[in-house]
Amino acid sequence: MNFQTSISYLKGVGPSRAKLLGKELGIFTYADLANFFPNRYIDRTQFYKIRDLQINSADVQIVGKITGVKSVKQKRGSRLVAQFVDDTGHMELVWFRGVKWIQDSLKINVPYVIFGKVNFFNGAFNMPHPEMELLSDYKKGFKISMQPVYRSTEVLSSRGVSNRVMQKMQQQLFTETQGKFGETLSEKLIRDQGLISKNEAMFNIHFPQSQELLTKARQRLKFEELFFIQLQLVVKNLTNKRKNKGFVFDKIGDYFNGFYSAYLPFELTGAQKKVVKEIRMDLNTGAQMNRLLQGDVGSGKTIVAVLTMLMALDNAYQTALIAPTEILATQHFNAIDELLAPMNIKVRLLTGSSTVAQRRVIHEELENGSLHIIIGTHAVFEDKVLFKNLGLAIIDEQHRFGVAQRAKMWMKNDLPPHILVMTATPIPRTLAMSVYGDLDISVIDELPPGRKTIKTIHRFDSNRLSVFKFIKDEVGKGRQVYVVYPLIKESEQLDYKDLMDGYESISREFPLPDYRISIVHGKMKSADKEYEMQRFVKGETQIMVATTVIEVGVNVPNASVMVIESSERFGLSQLHQLRGRVGRGADQSYCILLSGVKLTKEAKKRLQTMVETNDGFKIAEVDLELRGPGDLMGTQQSGVLNLKIADIVQDSQVVYTARKAAIQVAHSALGHKDPAYKNIWATFGEIMKNRSIWANIS
Ligand code: ADP
Ligand code: MG
Repeated sequence: MNFQTSISYLKGVGPSRAKLLGKELGIFTYADLANFFPNRYIDRTQFYKIRDLQINSADVQIVGKITGVKSVKQKRGSRLVAQFVDDTGHMELVWFRGVKWIQDSLKINVPYVIFGKVNFFNGAFNMPHPEMELLSDYKKGFKISMQPVYRSTEVLSSRGVSNRVMQKMQQQLFTETQGKFGETLSEKLIRDQGLISKNEAMFNIHFPQSQELLTKARQRLKFEELFFIQLQLVVKNLTNKRKNKGFVFDKIGDYFNGFYSAYLPFELTGAQKKVVKEIRMDLNTGAQMNRLLQGDVGSGKTIVAVLTMLMALDNAYQTALIAPTEILATQHFNAIDELLAPMNIKVRLLTGSSTVAQRRVIHEELENGSLHIIIGTHAVFEDKVLFKNLGLAIIDEQHRFGVAQRAKMWMKNDLPPHILVMTATPIPRTLAMSVYGDLDISVIDELPPGRKTIKTIHRFDSNRLSVFKFIKDEVGKGRQVYVVYPLIKESEQLDYKDLMDGYESISREFPLPDYRISIVHGKMKSADKEYEMQRFVKGETQIMVATTVIEVGVNVPNASVMVIESSERFGLSQLHQLRGRVGRGADQSYCILLSGVKLTKEAKKRLQTMVETNDGFKIAEVDLELRGPGDLMGTQQSGVLNLKIADIVQDSQVVYTARKAAIQVAHSALGHKDPAYKNIWATFGEIMKNRSIWANIS
């Protein structure tokens, strides 16, 4: 027997139960069972006397004897009632199911330990379907102070695999293996982190000897779990750097220096400078850059992208910048083209709306190298698009592009381009570390100076008139206003009706010729969308009624009010993104969240968070708390986040220490494997082996 032995060999399991455990809980081997940790624990240090029982107490444990059993006929079938006594009183035990089988198995006048919930009925206490065990067996079992409760499924319960049975299996496993698991961490790490040993932790997680030991067991196993995740990521990052050779951009030349000294429109913030430096170091190592650039809306990522492009240009390489939507790509194009206009650099835009003639020129110029920078949507990913020497790919908005597309980019050249992914949806640090831990991460954690914080208020729909009045005042001052409606796929028709109704009522409230209104939504042709957007950008219209198509990146500095209709239906990061559309000019800006009166607890929390803070990273933390990591990141990465015992939100501190430790171990062992880390690398090897088995299967 070893820990990879099939669970069907465990005494008391057998082939059919083994199959069931595999199917229901993914438990196939001894190791799987041992690593199936309880969800929670019930205090079983307390024993009650019958005299002290209270009505409706849960988790009651009593020692006593059965003095008699009778079966009572009822409308359908019968129920079984046993008289149960201790030295202070008597009560009843009751069964409604499995009556016959239980009646045969009960022993009279032998001490039992019973456990369950107590009811009061017809003047007497009773316990329905108690968990019970002979006192003599109870004394033979492993002593515990808290009873573990394991996750189960309906199928398992109906097939008799109760919590008690699960506990017995664990006990059997620990008896057969003598609880010898083999240490997975190094002595030094255990000492430095103040952890208990693997064996002690495994024993106490299943059979807690005290509250204190249970806490220590949980600490140890959480650390171990997070540590090995981080170690995989850190090692992957290091091997990528060794394996994925990249272009060497060792020149900082006329493009970069010329722009920096003559055309940089503002002084960079400290955070921007730091990030530019990080990128510059990456580009010079001979390895491919794989960097994630995080920064809140308005933190100034565009200029960082531009400076990086100039580094590529100085080394005679082309750059592609890819944005998730046509509007955003167009806007990037306009901004970057304008910034670089005095520099004699050729920039072009490629989207789904580019004409055949335009494409022909672009394809040709990209292939002969006369086009330096291509900005576009995923049209740039098409096979027909070939480069003379693509050296850098910048991807805006991580969330919208799959890894598959990223990999496709790699194939465009013998060497992969350097990759910079920019995301405007801040991800909490611990989550970024756990999901993108194999990438390098840069954070712009400082906004450009002089920004006024956006005032955010929440109003119920019934206050709409005062909101309209406020809009009139702002428009009177020459400002522009967004009014945004939700558009959620499943209810598209309904959403369009809301949008159109809203548009009509706003048109009535804000009539021509004093007011002009733009409308943009997903069902419009992109040329029409662009036309309407441009009217708003140029200030020809004062109000923009839109669905969330304007969510990302649109930049109209004169817009100072963002009204969000049915704001309770938006997610937090979306609300924050939308709010980021205003506050881009010198004026005080406002975000007005309209909602119905009836709000779920979570919707309330979302709106309240928006009112309280403008900080995208804080908002991301709340979002993570509300939605959990799986939901936040999508299914794509949920594998990494399928944690057994640790919790990225609650154990964020452990994530940091685990990562630090992993970096230390990975670096010190690179090249020569330090014998002090023998356990760690053995465990790591096991994990990688199992991972590749799974990768081959799926
Ligand atoms: P985002 O990170 O959301 O893409 P942008 O790059 O669009 O932000 O920058 C937002 C605005 O801030 C732009 O108008 C830009 O010109 C301005 N900006 C960026 N960096 C600075 C800076 N260091 N000082 C002043 N203004 C800046
Ligand atoms: Mg941007």
